[in-house]
Amino acid sequence: MNIGFIGLGNMGGPMAANLAAAGHNVTGFDTAQISVEGVDMAASAAAAAADQDVVITMLPNGQILRAVADEIIPAMKHGAAFIDCSTVDVESARAVAEQAVAARLLPVDAPVSGGVGGAQAGTLTFMAGGSEAAFTKAQPLFEIMGQKAVHCGDSGAGQAAKICNNMILGITMIGTCEAFALADKLGLDRQKMFDVVSTSSGYSWSMNAYCPAPGVGPQSPADNGYKPGFAAELMLKDLRLSQQAAEAADADTPLGLAATKLYEQFVEAEDGLGKDFSAMLPRFEKRHRG
Ligand code: NAD
Repeated sequence: MNIGFIGLGNMGGPMAANLAAAGHNVTGFDTAQISVEGVDMAASAAAAAADQDVVITMLPNGQILRAVADEIIPAMKHGAAFIDCSTVDVESARAVAEQAVAARLLPVDAPVSGGVGGAQAGTLTFMAGGSEAAFTKAQPLFEIMGQKAVHCGDSGAGQAAKICNNMILGITMIGTCEAFALADKLGLDRQKMFDVVSTSSGYSWSMNAYCPAPGVGPQSPADNGYKPGFAAELMLKDLRLSQQAAEAADADTPLGLAATKLYEQFVEAEDGLGKDFSAMLPRFEKRHRG
């Protein structure tokens, strides 16, 4: 297939490289001068998108996605798929999809889980929103870039799934860190705490797969000085999206709100910026109140 790929950062770069390595013709564009193995660079987003069978975007946020969509949609050929893999607000996803449908394109919102490691290894999980025809067209590419793609529903459903998943993740990470800090104060050994919780009803991905305590559980950013991994500021971005969605949908998410406020404090008023989101554990070790 002829593919345009716009946004070749930490995630988009390796995703585009995997598509090229699988034999597709990939033309890329990024506002930063980035080169990706096997990918031809275009001079603009519109040039990268013109006459392609599929255009993929992997951009920082909804505002940038909307601006790029305004530029590329008129350049795309009828019947082409427009797959946005960025994590953005549900409203932006739906607005861009509507614009794409009006231009006779096949839009899919397809945010991912799995991080930079998953992007490099081609093991991402895609959560997709859009028509059956759009999902079917995108599926062979999901199979190259990832190991699983779930068609969640109509446009916006992929972003909804991503936002809900990451709200759970933020909440369980905070809960796991709080519990470790409490266990310390109670004189409970961290390894024993892991051994019990990881096979009891308190288990979660945060505890079992991404344990925030160094030297305990499988290898995780805690074992590497809390170097991300998944940065605290990206978790904050996703939690804010969850609260924006909750506000718009009139949903009651008190723990999502509390997690948003805590990550906000950690990133903006404490020393969380640039650290992995599991660095909440050393934060709680300092016994913050408030
Ligand atoms: P990144 O900042 O490394 O990459 C974004 C790229 O977009 C940059 O290279 C930037 O130069 C480019 N860009 C910005 N504006 C542009 C424009 N107008 N036209 C063309 N290119 C433009 O970010 P990332 O880590 O690759 O994340 C991308 C998206 O994936 C985000 O929405 C993020 O929330 C989501 N995500 C990231 C992770 C992760 O672990 N990094 C995991 C899941 C989802």
